[in-house]
Amino acid sequence: LVEQVATLEAERRLNHLQDDFIATISHELLTPLGFIKGYATTLLRQDISWDDSTRLEFLTIIDEEADRLHELIDNLMDSSRLHAGTLRINFQPVRLEALLRDIALRSSTRDDKMKIQLKLNAPGLQILADPTRLAQVFENLLGNASKYAPDSPITISLDVVADRALITVADYGPGIPPEHLENIFKRFYRVPNNNTSVRGSGLGLYICRRIIQAHDGEIEAESALGNGTTFKIFLPIKHSEGEDNSSVQEAKT
Ligand code: ADP
Repeated sequence: LVEQVATLEAERRLNHLQDDFIATISHELLTPLGFIKGYATTLLRQDISWDDSTRLEFLTIIDEEADRLHELIDNLMDSSRLHAGTLRINFQPVRLEALLRDIALRSSTRDDKMKIQLKLNAPGLQILADPTRLAQVFENLLGNASKYAPDSPITISLDVVADRALITVADYGPGIPPEHLENIFKRFYRVPNNNTSVRGSGLGLYICRRIIQAHDGEIEAESALGNGTTFKIFLPIKHSEGEDNSSVQEAKT
């Protein structure tokens, strides 16, 4: 009887989690879809003629919301692949300094409000990693810094600490309350009552952590309310010079 009750309880909890998941995801998908549908229907109305600037404004919203929907679906797919252990990581030699310079340049070109300072102290440092997945992690952290600390400069640093590469991404924004720090890496977790106008799914940092773990690395956050947030990423330095170390591995959960 005790066993049966425990099984029923586990099933009930699982159902509850699945319901929560469906509710969160439906809401996240429906919001951009609602904008797209609303503005497209408005533009299609025959009884009103829109001037060029209004039409451009509505089309820009549709374009941005379609990008957001795309990003959300990408995140959901990555998240479920990571959960199932089927996300492929293509290891190859990567020069971290070049990768970080490239990401900083791309991000600040895309968003001219983003002011990034680089402090790269490991010239020529090469590790084995998947450059696309690492770029995804850093772009996510930069995207978060610009969403949650919009007027703050961002500093990216690279050092070697005890045989590991240490990369930090720091902003000087509002920070994260200490009781939420570890939870922010959980799937769908968003800090309650933070700036509610900032949209998100709570998947970004979960994906970042899983990708870094698939590289045998670690990611952690340090923050003090009012004093900004620093994400620290540690990655193992493996010798790859002159060896053909490229390999494909599945990210294990
Ligand atoms: P999302 O941004 O989609 O909500 P994330 O997993 O990327 O999801 O982040 C989880 C939560 O961590 C965010 O909702 C936000 O509350 C908090 N957070 C992340 N980065 C920062 C930052 N740089 N400054 C303040 N809060 C942050």
